[in-house]
Amino acid sequence: MIHLKTAPELETMRRCGRAVAEALKAMGEAARPDAQTQELNEIGESVLASHGAAPSFKGYRGFPAAVCISVNEEVVHGIPGDRPLREGDIVGLDIGAQIDGLNGDGAWTFQVGEVSREVRRLLNVTEESLYQGIAQARTGRRIGDISHAVQSYVERNGYSVVRDLVGHGIGRGLHEDPSVPNFGRPGTGARLRPGMTICIEPMINQGKAGVRVLKDRWTVVTRDRRVSAHFEHMVCVTDGAPEIMTALDISRGGYGQTQAETEN
Ligand code: MG
Repeated sequence: MIHLKTAPELETMRRCGRAVAEALKAMGEAARPDAQTQELNEIGESVLASHGAAPSFKGYRGFPAAVCISVNEEVVHGIPGDRPLREGDIVGLDIGAQIDGLNGDGAWTFQVGEVSREVRRLLNVTEESLYQGIAQARTGRRIGDISHAVQSYVERNGYSVVRDLVGHGIGRGLHEDPSVPNFGRPGTGARLRPGMTICIEPMINQGKAGVRVLKDRWTVVTRDRRVSAHFEHMVCVTDGAPEIMTALDISRGGYGQTQAETEN
């Protein structure tokens, strides 16, 4: 069942979204060579606290931290620890914020120092695929329109969409209906209505789509151990343009993107 949010609920979710965005930005700035992933987790948790928000992920189905931190071939759900980041790594940061029983959720993949041109292109394409999906999040369209927009952009650029994990509705539940796959056919699935809040979150692999879960029972990695990127915004469907509730105060194309590179 899809819950449409009231105006007061949306106002609280905007606060959650701002906490998420500021936590992502602060963690991204700290994602430098030699930083440990647990240090990023502490930064993220303290930014949430400064917004009066609790970490939605901590204890969710037993997850032990505030932030999912996934490096290189790790797709999502990595557990923070003493692993130091290295020049050329990419680090996916995914964080949820809860205020008054409502949630916000967002993710961003940052580069650590300078990364290869190939890896930067994966980040550019994945970020752009998120915006291609968001552009479809309009009243009267369907979930499948979002899914198809993400998939077709990604595959046109030569990458693979992870099938085992999908985006989701959000509100009082961290994960609510509807599911928002990053693959699918246009004109299918639930029809979008004002007040729907969804998380669109392409998880995109440089190589093949296959993933597996490590022995820690959380960390999802690519089967071929090639790198993977993840970008997520929480979006509200409105009467007009989609509202990005986790908008980050960092410039788009912050990886030195040019259109020519993306379309190569
Ligand atoms: Mg999510």
